[in-house]
Amino acid sequence: MTAPIPVTRLPKVGTTIFTVMSRLASELGAINTGQGVPEFDPPPRLCDLVNEHVRAGHNQYSPMAGAIELREAIAAKLERLYGRRVNVETDLTVTAGGTEALCSTIQALVGPGDEVVLFDPAYDSYEPVVELCGGVCRRLPLTQPEFSIDWSRLEAALNPRTRLVILNTPHNPSGALLSREDLDRLAEILRPTAAFLVSDEVYEHMVFDGHAFVSVNSHPELAARAVVVSSFGKTYHATGWKIGYCVAPQALSAEVRKVHQFNTFAVATPLQRAIADFMVECPEWELELPAFYQAKRDLLSDLLTRTRLRFKPTPSTYFQLVDYSDIADVADADFSMHLIRQHGVATIPVSPFCAAQSRSERLVRICFAKHDDTLRAAAERLAAL
Ligand code: PMP
Ligand code: GLN
Repeated sequence: MTAPIPVTRLPKVGTTIFTVMSRLASELGAINTGQGVPEFDPPPRLCDLVNEHVRAGHNQYSPMAGAIELREAIAAKLERLYGRRVNVETDLTVTAGGTEALCSTIQALVGPGDEVVLFDPAYDSYEPVVELCGGVCRRLPLTQPEFSIDWSRLEAALNPRTRLVILNTPHNPSGALLSREDLDRLAEILRPTAAFLVSDEVYEHMVFDGHAFVSVNSHPELAARAVVVSSFGKTYHATGWKIGYCVAPQALSAEVRKVHQFNTFAVATPLQRAIADFMVECPEWELELPAFYQAKRDLLSDLLTRTRLRFKPTPSTYFQLVDYSDIADVADADFSMHLIRQHGVATIPVSPFCAAQSRSERLVRICFAKHDDTLRAAAERLAAL
C-alpha cells in the first residue's frame, strides 16, 4: 500500500506571508522590513540573567501555569500599569508566545458551529485555529482610514451563536488604538450576550505621541469576560524566545489551562526566570520603550516623505502602513513582490490579514524595528519608485 495522503484540515492556509517574505528576502539579499522582527538584541542584563539561570540549574519544567516568579512580576505590572489585581495562582498563564495563548484560548472556548468575530485586517493566526475547532469567523471590516470599529455593525453581527470577539489593540498592521469610550461601547454591546472577549495586546508597550494605551485589563466589566494576551517577544526584542502570557478570571483561565497543559504544558524555565528578574530590576524598560520606537517611527516618517508613498505616522506598534496608489494600480501582494524582486525591499501586503471580499486597498506594511541605517537604505530604494 502506498502511504496515505492527508486531507487538509486547513484548505485555505498556505505558508504565512511573514515566512514567505523573510525567506525571499534572505534568498534575494533584500532589506527585510517585512516580518515583525527587531534587528536589536535583548537588553544585555536580560541575556546575562538567562545564562545565570541556566547555570544555576533552572533547566527543568516550570509549573504548568508558569514560573511563580514570573507570574508575580506580571501581576505587579498589571497592578502598576492598569490597576488590575489578579490572583497569581488562578488568573495568569505563561505560554509559548502570544501565539500559543491565542491558540489555547480559542481551542478552549470555540466548538463546532460557534461564531467568532474578527476585525479585518486581522492577525493571521486567529482564523485557522477557529476553523480547526469547527468554528466560523464573522469578519467585519475596520473603517478606514482610521481602522476604527463600526460598533453598530458589531452589534448587528452578534447572535446567540457568537462565542468570541477578538480585539487587537494596539493594532497590527494599522497601529490603531482603542479608546476608553470604545471599550465602554463594547462593554455595553456585549452586556446582554454570552460572548467572551479576547484582547490581543502584544504591542502594549509601543504607543507614541503621549497617547494612552487603554488595556482591557483596565476595564473591569470587560475584563470579567476576557482573556487578555501579551508577549515578551516585542517588549524585550526577543521574538525568538516565544514567551507570552494571558490573563483571565479564574473560571476562564481554568479552561485555557486545560488546553495549554496539552499544547505545551510549560515553557522555557530559564527564560521565564530571567524575564521575572529583569521585570523586578528594570521596571522602567517598558516605560522607556515607546520613546525608542517613536524615534524610529519619526526617522522612517521623515525618510518616507522623500518617496511617493502616502502615509499617516502610526500611533503605535513597530509597523507603518503606506499607500502606494500614486505609484501603481496593482494588488498589494503583487506590489510587495515587485518591491522585493525589483527594488530589494521586503514589505508585507495587507490582504493576507483580510477576508477575500475586503481585499481592495493599496497598502503595504513596513516594519521599523530596525537599525537607522537599515531604514535609511530601505527608504533610499523606496524613493526610486
Ligand atoms: N498577535 C499579534 C497582533 C502579533 O503581531 C503577533 C506576532 N508578532 C502575535 C500575536 C504573536 O506573538 P508571539 O510572537 O509572542 O507568539
Ligand atoms: N507577528 C509578526 C508580524 O506581524 C510575525 C510573526 C510570525 O512570523 N509568525 O510580522
